[in-house]
Amino acid sequence: SSGISSFKTAAKKSTTQATLSSYSNNGKKNVVILGSGWGGISFLQHIDESKYNVTLISPRPHFLFTPLLPSTPVGTVDEKSIIEPVVNFAVKKTKGNVSYYEAQATKINHAENTVTIKSFSHVNPFGASKNPESIKKNDSADIKYDYLISAVGAEPNTFGIPGVEKHGMFLKEIEHSPKIRKQFIENIERANLLPKGDPERKRLLTLVVVGGGPTGVETAGELQDYVDQDLKKYLPSIAEEVQIHLIEALPVILNMFESKLTSYAQKVLEQTSIKLHLKTAVSEVKETYLVAKTKVSDTESKLEEIPYGTLIWATGNKPRSIVTDLIKEIPEQEGSRRGLLVDEHLKVKGLNNVYAIGDNAVAGLAPTAQVAHQEAEYLTKVFNKNQIGSAKPFKYLHYGALAYLGAEKAIANITYGKRQLYTGGGLITFYIWRLLYLSMIISWRSRFKVMSDWFKLALFKRDFFK
Ligand code: FAD
Ligand code: NAD
Repeated sequence: SSGISSFKTAAKKSTTQATLSSYSNNGKKNVVILGSGWGGISFLQHIDESKYNVTLISPRPHFLFTPLLPSTPVGTVDEKSIIEPVVNFAVKKTKGNVSYYEAQATKINHAENTVTIKSFSHVNPFGASKNPESIKKNDSADIKYDYLISAVGAEPNTFGIPGVEKHGMFLKEIEHSPKIRKQFIENIERANLLPKGDPERKRLLTLVVVGGGPTGVETAGELQDYVDQDLKKYLPSIAEEVQIHLIEALPVILNMFESKLTSYAQKVLEQTSIKLHLKTAVSEVKETYLVAKTKVSDTESKLEEIPYGTLIWATGNKPRSIVTDLIKEIPEQEGSRRGLLVDEHLKVKGLNNVYAIGDNAVAGLAPTAQVAHQEAEYLTKVFNKNQIGSAKPFKYLHYGALAYLGAEKAIANITYGKRQLYTGGGLITFYIWRLLYLSMIISWRSRFKVMSDWFKLALFKRDFFK
């Protein structure tokens, strides 16, 4: 029979810390997956549950379709359209035992083949109230595994820059999106009470996005779309004063694209009045301004203070503590800073039955959804065919990259491995971008909701509410 148990049911069995073997003595091996993102959910979808007892552990009870996350703060796409509850995937696994624990794995005890998990009082991302069924804070248990699949992803990196954690906002999880919207709306409301020319009004209407990778560029583009297409209609004087800055430490934005496309992207951003600061690294963040250092020549730099009302920090990611703790315990992982080193079969180096996929693994590939998804597909094939230890190595097939720039323009470099299929930028590419993203969405419910959000946008303004 299939079953979805929550951490709560498991914790009831244990007054103190207990070791839980998901399904003992049914002759099947226990596969434990950590994480409900691109790696974890793709693995869950493809694993043959008639052959393994499957347990998924994640503090996040939903999958998040990250490629459309930059569209949510301004309401181009609704937050609920791009998340899918874990249980919706789990209930489809009808041929065997599947459990879900809404909990955080705090330690991988590789010598004992267990993972310590802690209950997690889930905060409702759409409201202030906590989950009414929140679990007691200190409940903890050890889950036994025969095979562990670590897919815990990564977390935003501040590089230890002072003030970022306190004053900046990230865009990595769904709950970050309404926070950005709320701050921008409050700043608009406050600015509207101040006279034109007041420096405080100017500050409140300044949005700074730090990081010219795809997250930063797409977010800046979506914010500018909201200002140009919606805000301009009902608060034109405010809209014309909003200034978005995009700050990037390197000489180019979107450095994973060829130079022709990055130059085009820069041109589009500047045309839509986003101010680009290249070769500029933010070194400190204060409550109302940040300090940025621009390289003027090989020997010279210029320091500048940029006042801001809203600060979005998108400078990439770093490994989570559960991963760095494990790295410290395994000699074969010594010195690894970006994540768990894996071999050509995605097995964590130095361990026998632990695999890592997605952003928490270092397989020499970019930390993308595309990679995490393919790694999960490969590994489930190996598991389903009972080829553990004898399978062919993992081979990544690159399908290219896409990025939305705002103003209904996107850039794309579509490939099939080394073969170039399409390279371009503009309106047609924007429609290709939309079509491809729709095809990448991993549930029909989400796909339908995103399509209706886009259709709604053609007729009405964005939902931009607190
Ligand atoms: P995630 O998807 O981040 O999932 C990690 C999971 O682990 C989460 O469910 C988390 O809650 C859970 N977790 C965390 N800690 C623990 C713990 N201690 N115990 C158990 N579970 C834990 N890539 C592309 O290829 N194309 C794109 O267009 C694209 N757009 C993006 C846009 C944005 C805004 C962002 C932020 C990323 C984008 N990416 C894109 C990158 C892509 O999202 C990541 O590479 C991908 O999510 C990695 O998958 P993952 O499973 O490793 O991690
Ligand atoms: P990233 O690592 O790709 O980009 C971060 C950028 O921030 C870098 O260009 C870096 O030079 C810059 N930076 C770092 N510190 C800085 C500082 N102090 N001041 C100014 N700039 C600084 O991060 P991301 O954009 O969040 O992307 C993360 C991963 O997710 C990447 O692998 C990316 O390909 C993937 N992703 C893909 C898409 C897409 O395909 N459309 C969208 C979003 C993310």
